[in-house]
Amino acid sequence: MHLEEMKKEIEALVIKKGFYNKPEDIPKKLLFAFIELGEASDSWKKGTPEEKIAEELIDVIFYILDASRLACPTVDMDAMFKTKLEKNHSRPYQYGEGHRNK
Ligand SMILES: [Mg+2]
Repeated sequence: MHLEEMKKEIEALVIKKGFYNKPEDIPKKLLFAFIELGEASDSWKKGTPEEKIAEELIDVIFYILDASRLACPTVDMDAMFKTKLEKNHSRPYQYGEGHRNK
């Protein structure tokens, strides 16, 4: 399943479950993504089975794609993924991690 398909599935779930679904809800959705990141980190620190850690990371993806659906609805996230991947590949070795050389 590609990101654009995932966005449609997430939208269907949001509507079915009556979750937040307005542009003004975007900050909440991004906050929830952070919360799920914390849950993933906590699960890893506690030595939780990999499946549970993966589930928390998928929750992060859910919220990010859900936020993207409302924040930038005209952007094809599959195309953006490819564009950003190429952009990052074109950057220098250890870009953004200059502190590691100090
Ligand atoms: Mg969770």
